[in-house]
Amino acid sequence: PERATRVRNLIVDVPDFPSPGILFKDITPLLADAQGLADVIEAFTRLALADGRGGTGGIDVVAGMEARGFLLGTPVAHALGLGFLPLRKAGKLPPPTERVSYDLEYGSAAIELRSGTLTPGARVLIIDDVLATGGTAAAAAQLVEQCGGVVAGLAFLLELETLHGRDRLARYNVDTLLRVG
Ligand code: 5GP
Repeated sequence: PERATRVRNLIVDVPDFPSPGILFKDITPLLADAQGLADVIEAFTRLALADGRGGTGGIDVVAGMEARGFLLGTPVAHALGLGFLPLRKAGKLPPPTERVSYDLEYGSAAIELRSGTLTPGARVLIIDDVLATGGTAAAAAQLVEQCGGVVAGLAFLLELETLHGRDRLARYNVDTLLRVG
């Protein structure tokens, strides 16, 4: 509880970013804080190791969404003694890649994973900072499955509950460290 409050206080609300009417949750102060960063990585790691959850127990590899999912996912992978798979915005990786396209509020986006980096049948924990509408996370899960992986679970630092992203991930085990309504 004390830790949750400390972490929560290190996430800053920025109105009208990146566009008018959006209240952006900025985790930069959290990343910059030694204790805050340690708290978050430890909380993710503990969740991943938790017994009897039937989901994220038994993980073979951690995957993270560009870019903040890299910052959180890689240290978690390391703490678990596992490797890390970057799920990149389209066009950054050399070919060959696997790709999933998804719709945004305006336009569309695509994410890619380098072909051959995911061992078929591997159980994957997907990590990102914020669960908003769930579109990014659903695409990440689809990409893992397209590459022959099994989505063991998805874990987020912060869930924006009013956007109901969890509903789009109903097939999966979803954990969030903090929630705001
Ligand atoms: P979604 O696809 O769920 O609508 O949006 C989630 C993606 O957008 C995540 O990759 C996340 O990093 C980013 N995102 C959306 N809203 C916010 C926000 O308020 N703060 C931060 N840090 N990231 C956000």
